Amino acid sequence: MKTTDGPDTPAGRRRRPPTRRTLARRAAPPAEYRLAGDATVRGVAIGPAALVVESPAPDIDPTARAADPDHELERLAEAVERSVRQVERLRDRLAVLPEDSQIEIGSLLEVYRRMLGPSRLQRGIRRRVTQDGLTAEAAVRQETESLALAMLGGKDVPAPDGEDAAQRRAGEFREIGRRLLRNLGRMPFRSFSALPEGAVLVTEQLRPADAALIDPSRIVAVATEEGGATDHTAIMLRALGIPAVLAAHGLMARVRDGATVVVDGSAGLVVVDPTEDTVALARGGVAEHARERQALGRLRRLPGRLSSGEKLHLQANLELPAELPLIAQSGAAGIGLLRTEFLFINAEIMPDEDRQAAIYAEIITAMAGDTTTIRVVDWGGEKHSEALVRAGLSRDGDNINPALGVRGLRLLLRHPAILETQFAAILRASSAGPVRVMLPMVTTVPELREARDIYHRVGRRLRRRGVKLGDSLPPLGIMVETPAAAIMGDALAQEAEFLAIGTNDLTMYTLAADRASADVAALYQPLHPAVLRLIQTVTEAALRQYRPISICGEIAGDPRAVPLLVGLGLRSFSMTASAVPRVKRTVRALSFEDCRRLAHRVMESPDVAEVTSLIDAFAAGR
Ligand code: PEP
Ligand code: MG
Repeated sequence: MKTTDGPDTPAGRRRRPPTRRTLARRAAPPAEYRLAGDATVRGVAIGPAALVVESPAPDIDPTARAADPDHELERLAEAVERSVRQVERLRDRLAVLPEDSQIEIGSLLEVYRRMLGPSRLQRGIRRRVTQDGLTAEAAVRQETESLALAMLGGKDVPAPDGEDAAQRRAGEFREIGRRLLRNLGRMPFRSFSALPEGAVLVTEQLRPADAALIDPSRIVAVATEEGGATDHTAIMLRALGIPAVLAAHGLMARVRDGATVVVDGSAGLVVVDPTEDTVALARGGVAEHARERQALGRLRRLPGRLSSGEKLHLQANLELPAELPLIAQSGAAGIGLLRTEFLFINAEIMPDEDRQAAIYAEIITAMAGDTTTIRVVDWGGEKHSEALVRAGLSRDGDNINPALGVRGLRLLLRHPAILETQFAAILRASSAGPVRVMLPMVTTVPELREARDIYHRVGRRLRRRGVKLGDSLPPLGIMVETPAAAIMGDALAQEAEFLAIGTNDLTMYTLAADRASADVAALYQPLHPAVLRLIQTVTEAALRQYRPISICGEIAGDPRAVPLLVGLGLRSFSMTASAVPRVKRTVRALSFEDCRRLAHRVMESPDVAEVTSLIDAFAAGR
């Protein structure tokens, strides 16, 4: 450490004994310096800064042309292969992370794996090499950037609140692009394993995959100069539970390696060289944060009940069997939506009845008596399946408006063999535990009747084959994802055994705003009064007919929206597993009467801004 009269003292001169004044000056702590950033992960931590400096990003000319496209394709294939291996290695590390983190990080790595597989991204990159004659690097840069910008609405600007999904998706494309570029240039990746225990990681920018490499038992907090509270790195850090402040501008210029740093992830504050008073305050914050984490952990075992006594059903949406062990960990009471698309998404051939039955049985068994709601495959729209295209069952992209074309139940009724196989597999697996079967994208009562006839026919056939099924088949229900289904809720609820509102699609069809298009992302508002009225209409219709109704779109996992949905009469929510503890904490503090009053006021609001401010004020007042 440099002192005022140490190494700088001219050689040969005797040091004078320090006076009281110089001692006082030496002993004086450096003035603390405060930087504001995005409050990204709650919690406070104190520790020595471990400064990690980013090696420069590869400098790519996005228009560079290649002499030999075949050679570029070979290089690209190698880089993809290396990237896949790296993602697999990251996946192997998952087991050592806290179980909460495994949910988020596991699904992110699965997204990366899919992007590196036979995806639209890979096809686009290859097309730019073969058709446009670009180098592999230029093709990767152009394609990932154009997909990212398409996600963000063609503008490289931070998206306003509510568009986190678009930002996240754009970040995923860019992250895969950076990884491919590094692998094309064989550049090394950063390692955090050598950082001292108890350190605060201070760096310019942290990529999501880097975040996955952080060991939360060694690193007490993270502060970065760039990034933001809604990007994927933020999601990872939240999953890891490491207090974090991102986008603290000026951080790198202010922090020395080893300097004491306080990170307050709740206030979005980084304090460099804190005074004793600040350290004492921060210690209080550290203790409070530890108590909060413990409390959230304890919640897992408690029922999802309102403070006024009404019982709610909080379930998980499952997209991949890999998430399965983590559902129990989240405290979810079963699976409210099992999206079976994973069986088809990366498959080259259609999965047969035996294979499907084995997978369903495994999932149902893992639920240990809690219900599993299996949705038959929802194909079409922005969802794409190689297997269905290869089998000639789904034409790839020849619809001008694929979301309005042959998707979901429409596709299955045109090709009943897929539906029959899936029904048979689910029914055979139903001996493993309680199951419900759900139909996607229903718009009319006749569609439901036709599917129900097939369901019963398959049941009879299985019985003839000697398969033991109960006296009645598992309940057959519908997703309410179209305005038509919501408006016709009364008629549908007479024939469907349960209903589940899918607000992701319901929002798209109600507001005529494509859920996958960044151009209209600002119009895609699940809390728009028009969507809320449809939710209310169909909920009341189901309750009149004594039919179970749940909600499983993304808003079901948003603690801000849940009080309103409770006030509209919903009691059953299915969400991404990691959202369950937070939603449970919210609902346990709610009284039904308050929720009902909130819903009453919200339903008089003419626009989404007023809805948002009412639910925010409600959340702040609790
Ligand atoms: C929905 O549309 O809200 C839904 C849950 O289905 P998916 O997101 O799979 O289309
Ligand atoms: Mg849907």
